[in-house]
Amino acid sequence: MAANIETRQPRKTRIGRRATALAFAIGLAAAGTANAQDKGTLDPKPLPALAKPDDPATPAKELFGRRPAPARMESRTIGFYAKGCLAGGVALPINGKTWQVMRLSRNRNWGHPNTVQFLERLSRKGAKLGWRGLLVGDMSQPRGGPMLTGHASHQVGLDADIWLTPMPDHELTPLEREDMSATMIVAKDRKDVDPTIWTPAHGALIKAAAEDPQVERIFANAAIKKALCREAGTDHAWLHKVRPYWQHDYHFHVRLKCPANSPECKPQEPVPAGDGCGKDLDWWFTDAVLHPKPSLPSKPRPSLKLADLPPACRQVLHAP
Ligand SMILES: [Zn+2]
Repeated sequence: MAANIETRQPRKTRIGRRATALAFAIGLAAAGTANAQDKGTLDPKPLPALAKPDDPATPAKELFGRRPAPARMESRTIGFYAKGCLAGGVALPINGKTWQVMRLSRNRNWGHPNTVQFLERLSRKGAKLGWRGLLVGDMSQPRGGPMLTGHASHQVGLDADIWLTPMPDHELTPLEREDMSATMIVAKDRKDVDPTIWTPAHGALIKAAAEDPQVERIFANAAIKKALCREAGTDHAWLHKVRPYWQHDYHFHVRLKCPANSPECKPQEPVPAGDGCGKDLDWWFTDAVLHPKPSLPSKPRPSLKLADLPPACRQVLHAP
């Protein structure tokens, strides 16, 4: 399987270290394999029961990955995007007039009610701007928490991946939702978007997402940010929320603010001032970043244990 959707940065190089530090600071570092392009299955096998689920050494992802339904509690977000969980998770319905959920076998269409409402709102706004509907990728697990594959973040029900492919004109079959691939939007040389694929509607959709007051930041490939900067005209007020990031060339990642009803939600450092265009993007297009030298993989970080998460996540895990 390919490198994780949230990281492909090499380690053991200066850039690699900077990349890794940045990835961990914003909670986008890899947690395992599986990315948006990985196909799913119509016949997902249930995970085998854990021999010692109460062993404190059990990785939290093994516990949260085995909870197929939300915790019946009032909805609230607990902890940080990359170290937390979700009480009272709500599912985004798999079909709406202006959205469809992909990779149903992953059971990751769960979030805080704010996230579900945001996606519905954005999908309607997008449709008015020429984007027929959203294809929604990973949100969170029913109880949030770390995942067995993929993202290090998406743990608190406030992150959602949106494909850079408009919704087709028909209701997708279950097989299509597992098999279909999103569209690569970045040009082969990685220095800009692919002009044969990028449309004004792509930019308008990302702008609409950034302008939503619930949205804290958006991660998208640097080439996408470059295109947004170029096409923004005089209105740059929203661009600071779009943060360049590795990969994110088939989808963009929306992160919502801590909900008002969630005092245990830990916010992220605010985005730096400025629109992040021009010179701020240069580093991303240096040869060392675009064509990193291969390096030996470093030792994987130890996975989070239940005790590493906020104490309330234990209740979320065990709640009916
Ligand atoms: Zn994501």
